[in-house]
Amino acid sequence: MEYEIVIGLEIHAELKTGSKIFCGCKNEFGDEPNTSCCPVCLGMPGTLPVLNKKALEYAVKAGLAMNCQISKFSKMDRKNYFYPDMPKAYQISQYDMPICYDGFVNIETGDEMKRIGIERIHLEEDAGKLIHDARGEGSMIDYNRCGVPLIEIVTRPDVRTPEEARSLFETVKSILEYTGVSDCRMQEGSIRADVNLSIRPRGREDFGIRTEMKNINSLRAVERAAAAEAKRQAEVLDQGGTVVQETRRWDDNKGESFSMRSKEEAMDYRYFPEPDLVPIVVEDAWISEIKSSIPELPQRRKKRYIEKLGIPAYDANLITMNKLVSDIFEAAAETCGNPKLASNWVMTELLCRVNEKGESVLNSGLTGEKLGEILLFLERGEITQTSANTVLDVLIETGEKPQAIIEHLDLKIQKDENLIAGKIHEILKENPRAVMDYAAGKEKAFGFLMGKSMTALKGKGHPALVRETLTRELQLYLK
Ligand SMILES: [Zn+2]
Repeated sequence: MEYEIVIGLEIHAELKTGSKIFCGCKNEFGDEPNTSCCPVCLGMPGTLPVLNKKALEYAVKAGLAMNCQISKFSKMDRKNYFYPDMPKAYQISQYDMPICYDGFVNIETGDEMKRIGIERIHLEEDAGKLIHDARGEGSMIDYNRCGVPLIEIVTRPDVRTPEEARSLFETVKSILEYTGVSDCRMQEGSIRADVNLSIRPRGREDFGIRTEMKNINSLRAVERAAAAEAKRQAEVLDQGGTVVQETRRWDDNKGESFSMRSKEEAMDYRYFPEPDLVPIVVEDAWISEIKSSIPELPQRRKKRYIEKLGIPAYDANLITMNKLVSDIFEAAAETCGNPKLASNWVMTELLCRVNEKGESVLNSGLTGEKLGEILLFLERGEITQTSANTVLDVLIETGEKPQAIIEHLDLKIQKDENLIAGKIHEILKENPRAVMDYAAGKEKAFGFLMGKSMTALKGKGHPALVRETLTRELQLYLK
């Protein structure tokens, strides 16, 4: 039977505030376990929470960036459950009055855009982290993450393919990065997605029974998990079985998911309004203020790159995917005055280094202005392509100014004709075989000799001049 896949995502993102959501503990990843905790976030009896205004502002900002309505009046609720990662035995969250609701984002599917509804965005606190002993002898708990502010973004079940699920996760992630509300470091778990998925025979209106896969923390894993779960459900139905409503754990290494527990219903949590916090009242003026602080978002930026700067759509898409990359491109294009050259360098040289060495390249000594300066030297014919790459490497390492790097590595282009001719002469003497091949009409031999000559000139020879001299010297040599 042919099935249609129905997917909705629940995306949890930690907010990049200075302190936690209900206490003054600092909100930072990577501290020694249990050092960023206090009686409030450890849930000691008698302590009282106070809502962090910045966390509320970031939640509203995320909502506005995703075209949501903002609740003028909302409240926090207690979600009761017992698990060792939550010392209070309840999580302060929002139940029936989320701070943001009824929004949408546009995602790309192939060449088209598709609108995905955002049902709600609510504010809540994160739980601690369980670290399971590798020998299976016990578990340790790190409460540093307890009380870290989170937003949960719940989308409508508008997604129809695993690729769209990935695209949706990517789109939401980039909006959160651009607005600066979350650093979205997937490897640190600061953004993670739950995939809710069901299937139904094509053409049917009502939804099938869904399962939920928890805490998936990479774009690729979202796509893979969705594809595998759709396949699993189809096999269950094809064999005459029924899908069980449950929570499943996706194992990305095995490429399989495993049943964790039957899905709990909202009533299992015995939600009630948090008695220790006052309701949240948000005024229009504050909403307007937050709205005006939202920067240009990736999709608009991309459109501007294509229409105003003449960058190909594919390149514009890749560049705007990551805000740091995009910011570097903008500054480089501005400095060198040639957006196409800047985009070529970002697409090839910069992204290649990011792939090799990781995102740290983007937080190194490199700035867009300095990349633009390298491109200016290149455009003015003062350094070669090879030298420009050397300058970029040193720049990433040291953050030095390109001008200084060029001077102390002596990278200025070599235009001394006598010196070039001399080096080429040596190369021809050392490579008689290639010279013969050239004489026999083998074009490749010229490229080989050109490469040898450039190496002999330490990559600094003026390319056109070297080419011209090599052609002339070859003629003379073969006479
Ligand atoms: Zn605390």
